[in-house]
Amino acid sequence: MHAQRRPIVVRPAQWALRGAPRGVAPYYLGTELVAVGLLALTLPFSATGSDWARFGALLVVGVVQAELSLGTERVRLYLSNAPHINMTSVWIFGGAVVLPPELAVLLTVLIYGHLWLRVWRPVQGRPAYRVPFSTATIVLSCLAVALVLHWFGVHGTLAGDWEGLRALLAIGVAALAFTTVNAVLIAVGVKLHNPSRRFTTLFATRSENALELGTLSLGGATAAVLVTHPALVALMLLPVVVLHRCVLMRQLEETAAQDSKTGLLTDLEWKNHLTTELARAERRPEPFGVLIIDLDNFKRVNDTHGHVAGDAVLRAVADAIRGELRAYDAVGRWGGEEFVVLLPEITEQGARDVAERIRRAVARLTLTVTIDERQTVIAGLSASVGVAGHPAAGSTVEGLVHAADTAMYQAKRNGRNTVVSYADLPTQPVDSVDPACG
Ligand code: GH3
Ligand code: MG
Ligand code: MG
Repeated sequence: MHAQRRPIVVRPAQWALRGAPRGVAPYYLGTELVAVGLLALTLPFSATGSDWARFGALLVVGVVQAELSLGTERVRLYLSNAPHINMTSVWIFGGAVVLPPELAVLLTVLIYGHLWLRVWRPVQGRPAYRVPFSTATIVLSCLAVALVLHWFGVHGTLAGDWEGLRALLAIGVAALAFTTVNAVLIAVGVKLHNPSRRFTTLFATRSENALELGTLSLGGATAAVLVTHPALVALMLLPVVVLHRCVLMRQLEETAAQDSKTGLLTDLEWKNHLTTELARAERRPEPFGVLIIDLDNFKRVNDTHGHVAGDAVLRAVADAIRGELRAYDAVGRWGGEEFVVLLPEITEQGARDVAERIRRAVARLTLTVTIDERQTVIAGLSASVGVAGHPAAGSTVEGLVHAADTAMYQAKRNGRNTVVSYADLPTQPVDSVDPACG
């Protein structure tokens, strides 16, 4: 895969921080200052010769693993711009457990610096201001580990008279502290970037968290091996490289099911969810709802602001819809500026209420789009929403989609920016569709 070269100079003027929503810059800067401040508190520097040897070993395996995994990590970044669990936690958490805080932090900075040089910079248009922030979150996570181990009275003494269970407990709690500090700091950043995001959508999925705990477990094991049989740390290398490849396979599967522009499900995958829901409803009759959401006069957004701004609107609308849903609702992009939502275990009235919430969330949207360094504010959006409640509106995929679609067209006829349920329509729905509504 050919990675495009980017200039190595990082110019703050190009950091795009000015384009970020209010609150992001002070938050990032604040987090970085706290990281540096807390780090300064841990001084004076107290590393011994064996600390440096362990540091060197972790740095070597960390860099060798990153080099062996270059292809895998680059493909993962091509697939997704979102922050994801990377394998560096194995070495960084291992370092946080076994090294004095200053060396653990130096290891973090060097491993992240290497990743940035070899993967992030060549592959991804990741805003440069996020790199020090990501590093600061990991630094704070490492310091949390040091605090936990200190509290257990075991920091730096892994080799000595540790009783096994106490060590296990200390490392387990330290791993939770590491991942919690990191997840919370990143969630606050995501919320500042997208204020409409719901609390539950700010954190990684269950399987991502499981992967994170997996890498932290390997990190704990690495720390123990490093202290007792340093040369055997090399044995950790291959499992991490292989695990990383498996993660890529899973990511490829997820990507195939995801609309690349909005991150929502593709129409095909969404239909699979609906098929499964229908099968479940046959076994255990429960009502559920389907919504079709069509943006009103979206062509005008493209005509006025251009397609790049139009795409930004589609992403913002996708986020707004997701923000109004429960974790187990399924939302997909049907195509163009049309979205579909599956609401399991909900009455027709409940589905109407959700549709109304979504309509209001879209109407409230205001986004600032930066194109060619010029900022444009886009507001005044609206959507027409059609609701179909199972079982009354249909009991097949096609039937339910058609019912929601028919209701949505009625919403257009009613003047747009409104919700119509299939249940509101006369029994014989009007067949002819005003082409202006399509
Ligand atoms: P109505 O209220 O009747 O739905 O009007 P509308 O303008 O939203 O509907 P119409 O179907 O006439 O136009 C849909 C527009 O959506 C036309 C197309 O350019 C735009 N569109 C479809 N897919 C994309 C996309 O991926 N990105 C962008 N920017 N625009 C898209
Ligand atoms: Mg439309
Ligand atoms: Mg449309």
